[in-house]
Amino acid sequence: MKPHVVIIGGGVTGLTAAFTLKQLASQENVALRCTVFEASSRLGGKILTHRERGFVMEGGPDSLLARKPEGTQLIRDLGIESEVVGSNTQSLKTYILHHGRLETMPPGTNMGIPAQIAPFASTKLLSPSGKARALMDLVLPKSTLEGDESLGHFLRRRLGDELVNNIVEPLLAGIYAGSVDELSLQATFPQFQTLESKYRSLILGSIAQRKNAPARTNTSGRSAFITLRGGLETLIERLYDNLQDFAELQTDTRVVALRKNSDGTYTVEVENQGETHAYPADAVILATPAFVTAQLLDPSLPEAGKLRQIHYVSTATVMLAYPKSRIDANLDASGFVIPRHENRAITACTWVSSKWPHTSPEDYVLIRCYVGRSGQTEALSLSDGDMASMVQGELKDILGIDAQPWFVKVTRWNDAMPQYGLNHIKVVKEVESALRQKLPGVLIAGAAYHGVGIPDCIAQGRLAGEKAYELTTTAAAPSGKASAPMVTS
Ligand SMILES: Cc1cc2nc3c(=O)[nH]c(=O)nc-3n(C[C@H](O)[C@H](O)[C@H](O)COP(=O)(O)OP(=O)(O)OC[C@H]3O[C@@H](n4cnc5c(N)ncnc54)[C@H](O)[C@@H]3O)c2cc1C
Repeated sequence: MKPHVVIIGGGVTGLTAAFTLKQLASQENVALRCTVFEASSRLGGKILTHRERGFVMEGGPDSLLARKPEGTQLIRDLGIESEVVGSNTQSLKTYILHHGRLETMPPGTNMGIPAQIAPFASTKLLSPSGKARALMDLVLPKSTLEGDESLGHFLRRRLGDELVNNIVEPLLAGIYAGSVDELSLQATFPQFQTLESKYRSLILGSIAQRKNAPARTNTSGRSAFITLRGGLETLIERLYDNLQDFAELQTDTRVVALRKNSDGTYTVEVENQGETHAYPADAVILATPAFVTAQLLDPSLPEAGKLRQIHYVSTATVMLAYPKSRIDANLDASGFVIPRHENRAITACTWVSSKWPHTSPEDYVLIRCYVGRSGQTEALSLSDGDMASMVQGELKDILGIDAQPWFVKVTRWNDAMPQYGLNHIKVVKEVESALRQKLPGVLIAGAAYHGVGIPDCIAQGRLAGEKAYELTTTAAAPSGKASAPMVTS
């Protein structure tokens, strides 16, 4: 009987795990069975591209970081390198809303931390006292704190509140739709801690690093951010095509229970169209949000309850398309971000047709706004129509756009963004260690644990696939497993 690996969750993490299993099994000519169970009606999870009316519109992520090799490697493995598009290098600028006006983000910063003194000295985003406080970073001693601290606590003690509130927080926390004061330094931006320990000052460290690496384009001259011409969902579609002859990909199938059997194998119970089926498995990869993973593991692993400490934030994206002739605003940048204290429903705005010109017909302008972040979720309770009106009102205030959009598309992401709080790394390590000891054939992977970016998820999917392969092919596979599902209710 072929060993059977069950993957729960058909987002990019789960599909990459399946793809890795296929690669390894075919390299070594090993017979392996793989099933992916996905609760929703589509594969891809947070990766969702709408291709409509000549536009390529991302409802979820719009790009991946080119410098992280796992994303580009998967793109190569899938043979879609020719589809890669870099963000427009003519629109690298980012604006920040400040007292209701858009001000340019000072050039030469390391994620908001000054890496060049002149642009920082002249920015209108900070008062003279805010600048003076930030420059104290040059003389402040290293921290003697041990262990984790919040990203906000760390940045505030080095650079002061004003720089953090006006520049750094809207840039950094946006990645998590979070709050810098709640996110863990070690789990989100450990490189800042390294800068402090190596250079003492974040500014001096950023200046030193800048000498070795250009700020936003990589050495090949390509953009730091890449996407795929037909949208990021192309990645999911190619994974799907590639997995056809290897894995069973079952959508509309929710996993409701996971049990360890006395012979060391597992039983995965799923619900599909009102029926419950049980599947035997030699290894199981949970590539689900942490709260789902906790629920599935709880009965056999009480330590999994700790995963509930990983809170999730909801957000939404609002896409607006306008005829170019109706827009007077000069959309000469990738967009803007909005600090919390500006009290807007929009948290960030991408000028999609400027940043990614291939996404929009020549005569149209495409704008995407984010709504909702940790502690600012009121606008998410509005209906789609009211949220769109609120966003249009704010775009009028900020950009002077008075025109009616040709169409608006709202995509909601409820409980979608995992927050890496204090001690995140410790919590994940403890659960992983308990799994190794008590449920050795069960692995967890995905955005909740070791990085939320798509390349981080791909890396985790790959690693989980490799471990599941090792577990099922090096140990003698337990015998007597039924390969067909058993209907239990
Ligand atoms: C609005 C938004 C913008 C983003 N922007 C970027 C960006 O520009 N760049 C970037 O790199 N990253 C970005 N991210 C983050 C990135 O998209 C995600 O972290 C990543 O796609 C998560 O992949 P995943 O497979 O781990 O999880 P998911 O995509 O969440 O997949 C998990 C899957 O598990 C399924 N599932 C849940 N419960 C069950 C169950 N009981 N049984 C079976 N299946 C189940 C779900 O339906 C889902 O399909 C963004 C995220 C969002 C929401």
